Amino acid sequence: MDTIAENIKQLREKIPANVKLIAVSKFKPASIIKEAYLAGQCVFGENKAQEMTEKYQVLPKDIEWHFIGHLQTNKIKYIIPYVTMIHSVDSMKLLREINTLSEKNNRIVDCLIQFHIATEASKFGFSFSEVEDALSDKTFYQWKNIRICGVMGMATFTDNQSLIRSEFKTLKTYFLRLKENYFIDQPSFKEISMGMTDDYLIAIEEGATMVRIGSAIFGSRTLN
Ligand SMILES: *Cc1c(COP(=O)(O)O)cnc(C)c1O
Repeated sequence: MDTIAENIKQLREKIPANVKLIAVSKFKPASIIKEAYLAGQCVFGENKAQEMTEKYQVLPKDIEWHFIGHLQTNKIKYIIPYVTMIHSVDSMKLLREINTLSEKNNRIVDCLIQFHIATEASKFGFSFSEVEDALSDKTFYQWKNIRICGVMGMATFTDNQSLIRSEFKTLKTYFLRLKENYFIDQPSFKEISMGMTDDYLIAIEEGATMVRIGSAIFGSRTLN
């Protein structure tokens, strides 16, 4: 068995069946993604709109493409026709634009609200009060071509396991509060996207429903 297939098999043994594995294939060529696909992985995550679109065009059409990076409004148009879920909605302006383009494409696009849970200043995402403000505004409910399916977050890049765990707990709390206050009657609001190669086991313990894993499948990003 080749290495990618072996890596996927080993991950699947550690990830419960009800947690979705998103194989983060950023910077990897289509040929490598095809290897993972042939090993049974058909959900991939990318963080650049044009790169994802080029891969979408040449790869099998039953692949689910998840967008996980910071999305610029002028790039939304490339991915809207085919994207399965946008994990990284980090502003209401972006969400409004996604809605507009989804409407033009006659689609309803699944989105997650990205929260800033890490201590680093550089990571994108909302604070909880920003989201509450937006959800209290009626204009949000006029956007019929987006479906908010849950939350996403990235923990601090650190060896401090208890800090990572507490950040994931925070994200879970945000999820529950939003669910109870704004989405209680919406069964599709159910996803918590958290956990990467170094912290996915903690994320799963803290309630992740989706993990986004790159290096553990494809090897270190910088060496390829
Ligand atoms: C790159 C990336 C991942 C995967 O990271 P690994 O450590 O390689 O597993 C997950 N989420 C986001 C948002 C990423 O940019």
